[in-house]
Amino acid sequence: MNGLIFEGDKKLGWYDFEIPSPGEGEVLIKVSRAAICGTDLHKYQLPSEQIPTTKYGEPVPCGHEPAGWIATLGKGVTSFQKGQRVMVAGVIGCGTCHHCLTGFNTACIQELKGLYWNYPGCNTSFIVMPEANVIVLPDNISFEVASLLSCAGGTAMTIIEESNIKPGDRLAIIGLGPVGLCLLVIALSKGIEVVGIDVSEYRLELAKKLGITRALHQKNENITQKILEWSQGSGCDVVAECVGIATTQKQSFDFVANRGTIALAGLGNEDFNANLGALTIDKGGIKVIGIAATPILYFRKLLKIASKLDFEKIITHRFPFVDAVKAFRIVEEGNCGKVILEIEDQF
Ligand SMILES: [Zn+2]
Ligand SMILES: [Zn+2]
Repeated sequence: MNGLIFEGDKKLGWYDFEIPSPGEGEVLIKVSRAAICGTDLHKYQLPSEQIPTTKYGEPVPCGHEPAGWIATLGKGVTSFQKGQRVMVAGVIGCGTCHHCLTGFNTACIQELKGLYWNYPGCNTSFIVMPEANVIVLPDNISFEVASLLSCAGGTAMTIIEESNIKPGDRLAIIGLGPVGLCLLVIALSKGIEVVGIDVSEYRLELAKKLGITRALHQKNENITQKILEWSQGSGCDVVAECVGIATTQKQSFDFVANRGTIALAGLGNEDFNANLGALTIDKGGIKVIGIAATPILYFRKLLKIASKLDFEKIITHRFPFVDAVKAFRIVEEGNCGKVILEIEDQF
């Protein structure tokens, strides 16, 4: 089977992989759609020596946002049928520790695995997954939307659940990429008051199409002043940082409400210096929470509400798999919502 690989320094390649076979408790999935993530972009830009490989140094397919059909059941798998439409939770826990058993696989106390991290990625025709990580799709959720939900939508749902945000609360979303936009869609459906911030006119416009009424340009406006005016000086109950750079992580503290919550959902490697003692005392005890991928429990909650929400508009570009180079170019330019690779059309 043909698989897409990162070769380093923004080079994409193709590699002929063997179709994997599912072991006990695993299923083989035929991939229909896979979405491209900001995380993929970081890996695509890495130098070749930092590109993930197998322990034998062989290439692995990139990608971690698949949706497709159950193709083959491994030994002992009884909860699925061939041909069922499914999505995947990309972080693999042990399945037996107390976190895994309660649906928080992302907090597994054993070794965690993840697609195109220390496990093969999904930008190819077939992937093997443990059955615990496979979730059957409702008929009215398309493969495209499912691949959007498998990372961006799930992360957004995790912010909602972990921050305990309530209807009527104020939410600031810093960064209106796919995670921020999914968060916007879910938050508006719950009656949460949202302000969105981005540097991209394209993404601010996309947020407006999704119903935001307060969209602020990071560079052209005094963000803190605008938010404090809007909130009569009290700030936002929750600030979701969906960029992952030190500047915006630090900015989150400027307009979080007293006793509010900062959810750090952007993945980045920069250190940031903040006088946390002064900030927390000044703000009467704020909470800073880390959002790392999506627990399976929250995927189940997300799928219950997803068909009523307008996630389709977040998907702005689709490319046949052979045109992956064009797809990555669009993601890199940033004038896009979610970009989808069309891998297989038929089961
Ligand atoms: Zn992702
Ligand atoms: Zn576990």
